[in-house]
Amino acid sequence: MSKSLRCHLCHKIIKKKPSDVFNKKLGRPYKYSFCDTICYNRWRANQHLKVKERWLKFQREVWGTIPVKRFQVDKAKPYGREAEILARDVHLPNLGFKNIVDFSGQSNQFFVDFVADFNGQKVLIDATIKLKAYIPKKMFLAQALGMSLFIIHVSPKNKQIFYLSEVTLGRKVSRVPAKFIRGLAKS
Ligand SMILES: [Zn+2]
Repeated sequence: MSKSLRCHLCHKIIKKKPSDVFNKKLGRPYKYSFCDTICYNRWRANQHLKVKERWLKFQREVWGTIPVKRFQVDKAKPYGREAEILARDVHLPNLGFKNIVDFSGQSNQFFVDFVADFNGQKVLIDATIKLKAYIPKKMFLAQALGMSLFIIHVSPKNKQIFYLSEVTLGRKVSRVPAKFIRGLAKS
């Protein structure tokens, strides 16, 4: 005896023995039926995407965004500069950074915002309003100079919220950890 079922993804009618639904190899997951592993894997990838999208939305809500479309670099600049100034004048001094030289304020030809003293050493610092910053060139410079590179992420929603990360040499990305974002949502 076989039972008509529909594939949970493509809705094609599939014929499977009821027991197949519970067969891990053919009918997984138990709740739904699928034509084959291709449909199943596609569905699973979609599920992952949904979870990821939800997380990105949640992050944006907690951290904040700026009213600028992606790639409108010029319009985003004032927001970035505001965060830089706050980092320079408030957050970084509070964290113990001294003699902060504002290269970003000097000219746009520099691609690291600040040089400062920290724990007795000269270090490079960049300020961003992004949760995740791609920084291969800054890292290239830091490695060539043998200097530590810090990224200070400043929330565009609440300027009191920031995350300082010392980027491990060789890394090309600095990001605010998920744990930190979850902590913000709770507070
Ligand atoms: Zn299917």
